[in-house]
Amino acid sequence: MDIRSGFAGTIGNTPLIRLNKLSEETGCEILGKAEFLNPGGSVKDRAALWMISEHERSGALKPGGTVVEGTAGNTGIGLAHVCNARGYRCIIYMPDTQSPEKVTLLETLGAEVRQVPAVPYKDPENYQKQAGRFAHSLPDAVWANQFDNLANRHAHYESTGPEIWAQTDGKVDAFVAATGTGGTLAGVSRFLKSQSNGIRIVLADPMGSALYNWVKTGEASMSKGPSITEGIGNSRVTDNLSGTEIDDAVQITDQEMITMVYRQLREEGWFFGSSTGINVCGAVKVAQDMGPGHTVVTVLCDSGSRYQSRLFNEAYLNEKGLVIA
Ligand code: PMP
Repeated sequence: MDIRSGFAGTIGNTPLIRLNKLSEETGCEILGKAEFLNPGGSVKDRAALWMISEHERSGALKPGGTVVEGTAGNTGIGLAHVCNARGYRCIIYMPDTQSPEKVTLLETLGAEVRQVPAVPYKDPENYQKQAGRFAHSLPDAVWANQFDNLANRHAHYESTGPEIWAQTDGKVDAFVAATGTGGTLAGVSRFLKSQSNGIRIVLADPMGSALYNWVKTGEASMSKGPSITEGIGNSRVTDNLSGTEIDDAVQITDQEMITMVYRQLREEGWFFGSSTGINVCGAVKVAQDMGPGHTVVTVLCDSGSRYQSRLFNEAYLNEKGLVIA
C-alpha cells in the first residue's frame, strides 16, 4: 500500500524529473525537483509545515491559535492549507506588488490577507516587520518568520536534500537554485555537502537582487533591476542563508527566463512560474560550464498558473520591454 496521511503527509517526496531536451542539448542530466506537485502547489509547503510544527513543539502555538506571516505568497498559501488542516487562523501580510492570482487564492483558502506598500526591508513598514509586530500584539499568535526562522532551512535539510540524494543514488554533481528566504538552497546545500563535499552549489539570482554580488564579492550590494520574478532575490543575507557553502552564482535576466519558460511550455508541455525559469536557466549555465556527463539538479518551484496575468500575458510583458521569443 502506498497511502499518504492527510495534507501534511502529502508534502514532500516529490518526483525528480528529467528535462529531456535540455539534457540532450547539454549532454548532462538536467533534473528538476517537482515542488509544484506539493499539495499546496509550491516548494514553500515544506517550510510552512516545518515552521508550524516547530511552533507547536515549542508550545508557542496552541489549539485554535493564529499564524501570522509576511510572504510574497507561496509561503502564505502553504501556511493557509496547514492552518486549515490543524485548526489555526492564518493572517498574511504581502507586498502589494505580487500577482493577483496568489492574493485571490490565499483569500479562497481562508487566510486574511493584508496587502501593504512594497517598501525596502530597512523601512519599519516593510511587510515582514509589520507581520512580526502584529503577531507580537496578539496573545495567541506566532510569527512564522520564514526569513530568519531556521525551521525553514531544516525542512530542506531533513526532506528535500535527502530526497535528491536518494533519487539520484548519490550521483549529483551540482545543485542550482534561486533563493528568497534561502531556506531551500541553505538546507539542500548543507545536506548534500554533508554527503559529498565536492557537490557544486550554485545560486541563481534574478536582476535587482544583492545575492549574486554577495556570493561573488562577499558584499550584498544590489544589482541593477527590476525583475518581474516573484518570491526570489533579496537585498539581505537572511539567517537561513547565512553560513551556507555556496561555490558560485549566476545571474539570469528576465528575458532569458521568459524564453526558457515559453520553450518549456511549447516544446515539452511544462507550465512553470518565473522562479523555475530562473532555476532552469541557471542549471543549463552550470551544465555548460561543467561540460557533458554531469548531473545537475534544480528546483521546479511552482506552476505558471500563479502568474497567468503577468508572465503569460503578452501585453504585460511588452509593457516591461520584454518579448515572447
Ligand atoms: N520560488 C518561488 C515561487 C517562491 O515563492 C520562493 C519562496 N519565496 C522561492 C522560489 C524561493 O525559496 P526559498 O524561500 O526557500 O529561498
